[in-house]
Amino acid sequence: TLGGAPEAGPEAARRRVEVPLGSRAYSIHIGPGALDTAGAEIARIAKGAKCAIVTDANVAALYLDRVRLSLEGAGLAAAAIVCPPGESTKSYAEFARVCDALIAARIERRDIVVALGGGVIGDLAGFCAASLRRGVRFVQIPTTLLSQVDSSVGGKTGINSPHGKNLVGAFHQPSLVLADSGVLDTLSPREFRAGYAEVVKYGLIGDRGFFDFLEARWREVFSGGPARAEAIAASCAAKARVVVADETEQGERALLNLGHTFGHAFESLSHYDSARLVHGEGVAVGMACAFRFSRALGLCSGQDAVRVEAHLASVGLPSRIRHIPGLDADAGAILAAMRQDKKVERGRLTFVLARGIGESFLARDVDEAGVLAFLEQELA
Ligand code: NAD
Ligand code: MG
Repeated sequence: TLGGAPEAGPEAARRRVEVPLGSRAYSIHIGPGALDTAGAEIARIAKGAKCAIVTDANVAALYLDRVRLSLEGAGLAAAAIVCPPGESTKSYAEFARVCDALIAARIERRDIVVALGGGVIGDLAGFCAASLRRGVRFVQIPTTLLSQVDSSVGGKTGINSPHGKNLVGAFHQPSLVLADSGVLDTLSPREFRAGYAEVVKYGLIGDRGFFDFLEARWREVFSGGPARAEAIAASCAAKARVVVADETEQGERALLNLGHTFGHAFESLSHYDSARLVHGEGVAVGMACAFRFSRALGLCSGQDAVRVEAHLASVGLPSRIRHIPGLDADAGAILAAMRQDKKVERGRLTFVLARGIGESFLARDVDEAGVLAFLEQELA
C-alpha cells in the first residue's frame, strides 16, 4: 500500500497516518464512515469534554446531525456554530463572532473545538482555537478533498486581511484529523478536481510511484472506490513528512509550493474570482508550467512534462495558460504578478522546479529574463 497502515478487520478500508511532532503529535484517520465514529475517537483523547462544532451552512445541512449524534453517543456535549459558506468567512468579523460563541458555549482549556468543513472552516476554527484562552485543542473533520489532503494537516491556521490572504494567523496543530472519504461524494465535480490537483502535486514533488498509481487509478479516486482513501492517505503521509521535517516553514516545506508561484499569479490576474479560476485549477496550470519551464531549462525530460500535462487533462483540469478563461495578460503582467507572491526573496524569484516526476527541488535564484522568455513562448 502507498501510505498509512490499513486498519484491521471489517475496517480494512480505513487508514491511519501519524504526524510525529513530539508533544504535538497527532493521528489522521482516513476512510468512509469516519464521521460516524468521530465521537468515539474524540472521546479517546478528551473523555467527557465539551465540544463546539464550527461549520458552514452548506456542510451543516449535509453532515452536522451525523457528527452531533456521534459526539453525543460518546457522551460528549456538542454545541454548534454555523458560519456562512465561502472565503469571506475567513474575516476579523467571523473570527470575533466565533470566539465569542465559543466563550458563550463555555469552551475551556480542556475542551475541544471541532472544525467540520473545508479549508475555510478549518483555518478559521483553528485560529479561534489557537487564540481562545491562549490555545484550546481542536479536531479537524475536513469535508473537501483539498482540506483532507492539504489544509487540515500541518497546523497553519488563520484569516484574511483586507491587505491579503492568510496574513493573520498562527501555527496551531490539531489534536486529531478525521477525514471521511465518503463525504466527498456531495462535493461538486469542480471542487473535487481542484482538490485533486494538490493530490497530483505530492506525486510530482517526491513520489513517482504515487503519480503512476494516480495515472492508473484516478477514475476510482473520483468515483469513490478504495483507491480514494489510499490516495488521501498517501497525500497526508507526504504532507506529514514535509511538516515534520520543517514545522514552521523555514525551508523544505516550501516544496509544497510546486505550481503555486505560477498559480498564484493566475489567481491574482483572475481577481480571485472563483467563477473564473479556483485555487486548484491555478495550481494545475502552474504545475504544468513548472514542468515545461524545467524542460526549457534542460532540467527535466520532455516526456515527463508531457505526462504531467496529459494526466491533468485526462481528469479535466486545465494545464495551459490559454485554458484559463478571460486571462487577458501578457508575459510581463504574469511576471509582475509572480513578483507579488510572498515567495519572492529579495527580488529573486523562488521556484519549485523538477528534474523529473517525483524529483522536485527548490531553486532560489531563478533568472527573471528566463521566466519572461518562457512565458512569451507559452503565450505564443
Ligand atoms: P471551502 O472551505 O470554501 O469549501 C468549498 C465549498 O464546498 C464551500 O462552499 C463549502 O460549503 C462546500 N463543502 C464543503 N464540504 C462539502 C461537502 N462534503 N459536500 C458539499 N459541499 C461541501 O474551500 P476549500 O477548498 O476546502 O478550502 C480553501 C481554503 O483553504 C482557502 O481559504 C485556503 O487559504 C485554505 N488553505 C489552507 C491551507 C493550510 O495549510 N491551512 C492549505 C491550503 C488551503
Ligand atoms: Mg495550495
